Amino acid sequence: MSDVTTVLRGGTLLTLNASLDVLDDAAIGIAGDRIAWVAPGAAQPEVPPEATVIDMSGRLLLPGLVNTHTHLPMSLFRGLADDLPLKEWLEKHIFPAEAKFINPESVRVGTRLSVAELLLGGTTTCADGYSHANVVLSVAREMGLRGVFAQGIVDAPAPGVPDPSLHFTVLRRHLESRALGGVQVPAVFAHAPYTCSRETLLRAKDLAREYDALFFIHVAEARWELDWCRREREGLTPVRYLHRLGLLDSRTVLVHAVHVDEAEADLIAASGAGISVNTESNMKLGSGVTPIANYLERGIPLGLGTDGCASNNDLDLFLEMSQTARLSKLASGDPVKVKAADLVQMATRGGAKVLGLDRDIGSIEPGKQADIIALRLNRPHAQPLYNPYSHLVYSASAADVDWVMVGGDILARDGKLLKADTASIRREAVEWAGKIRGEQG
Ligand SMILES: [Zn+2]
Repeated sequence: MSDVTTVLRGGTLLTLNASLDVLDDAAIGIAGDRIAWVAPGAAQPEVPPEATVIDMSGRLLLPGLVNTHTHLPMSLFRGLADDLPLKEWLEKHIFPAEAKFINPESVRVGTRLSVAELLLGGTTTCADGYSHANVVLSVAREMGLRGVFAQGIVDAPAPGVPDPSLHFTVLRRHLESRALGGVQVPAVFAHAPYTCSRETLLRAKDLAREYDALFFIHVAEARWELDWCRREREGLTPVRYLHRLGLLDSRTVLVHAVHVDEAEADLIAASGAGISVNTESNMKLGSGVTPIANYLERGIPLGLGTDGCASNNDLDLFLEMSQTARLSKLASGDPVKVKAADLVQMATRGGAKVLGLDRDIGSIEPGKQADIIALRLNRPHAQPLYNPYSHLVYSASAADVDWVMVGGDILARDGKLLKADTASIRREAVEWAGKIRGEQG
């Protein structure tokens, strides 16, 4: 094919296509931002002489990872308050710190730090929810990260929105940025059923529908939320309540969904809504174990999220895959049901489906966007390699990622970002941490 501009040759390729084909000594032809062809060694099409050929031998190639839940600016709060229950952590530490320190400049600095961490760890798409989402989106655009960037909605004042009556004005302005195009799209994030009134939730979903935007919500994260909702929200558990309000559909993403019974899982499955599983955050806050096997059985779209750096405390999807697999087995006493390949699918094609981006990303197939990562396999923990899915979930680490492409653009090589100055990103974050530490003390 004459319009092929780049060819990746060699290595083991996990396509993550519908039949999960794994090709040895593969080649991928890339034309502009898209994948033109994928071929095993013997069947490679002729490569035009002007194309750049990149040798990937000795590497494992797979689609860029998809993180379905982040709060990128919160990397500035990494390690600020740990070892606390969710409610106390949020109300006594996180909300006050946000009120004091979050502004467009700190959001820019925290987001740059997070995007650098994501890209270097092989994540090429993320779904974020925060205040000043326009700033988060523009940093992602500058640095080349694909994703869905949602403006947060609560009933209380929030950073950048001191008057709660202005939340919807700010949200609408953010959603209008969709008209600018690009691979970073705006969305809506209603914080939770316990921080948003019925009216706020309905209005937020209406606005999301008006702009065909995704609607995210934290739901059924901690056990106390069930009793609270039964008491304060029409006698219903959180998922039943959202269902009664008509908020569940294929453009809704339920974040956490830890405490969900079988009947609620049926409601979610019938609605087409997706779920972001955030195991490490749930483990660290002692929230509970997400019933992944129940969701997989029902074919509910499942993605993996790290949550924000204040509750994880990293954006590493390799650790998230590993912890999710291990915890599911430990909690259920069943080592069989949730498999390594399930986790890799959640971190790629599953996450893409949750975000409604599966036509463009999530697998390496002709016609899809060229979002591709490569892992080096030359370190002791990476050999021998019998099964690439097991390798990715049980022994690989984010530090093994040494090459990253988003939409045909090479953003990292040899484990280093090519289009961003990592040292200055780190320096700015450390300066902000100094201010936060100074005022906290
Ligand atoms: Zn969250």
